[in-house]
Amino acid sequence: MAFFCHRCGTGLPGGARFCSNCGTVISPGPPTAGRPLLRPHVGRQIAGVCLGLAQANGWDVALVRILTVVCFFFSGGLVAVAYIAGWVGIPEESDTVPGAYPPKV
Ligand SMILES: [Zn+2]
Repeated sequence: MAFFCHRCGTGLPGGARFCSNCGTVISPGPPTAGRPLLRPHVGRQIAGVCLGLAQANGWDVALVRILTVVCFFFSGGLVAVAYIAGWVGIPEESDTVPGAYPPKV
């Protein structure tokens, strides 16, 4: 799986540890994961599932919400079940959990 250096944009082979162009250390994990999957307190509409998914995957939260609503009407409630599953299954964003997700400096 190829991905790109987040600093200079050079295409890198999967598993690369350093950018071959600028030398930036490539952090492990999916390249699109900007942050862990959590339900944020700020900006949430219902339970923060859409917002959490959007932020974890780098999606547009407005797009995620629209798709969620559209899918809700076409799936006959399946999305509602998935949403509730996410509500229960996705941990709530909290700064009271020490060392869970140390901020990148
Ligand atoms: Zn680079």
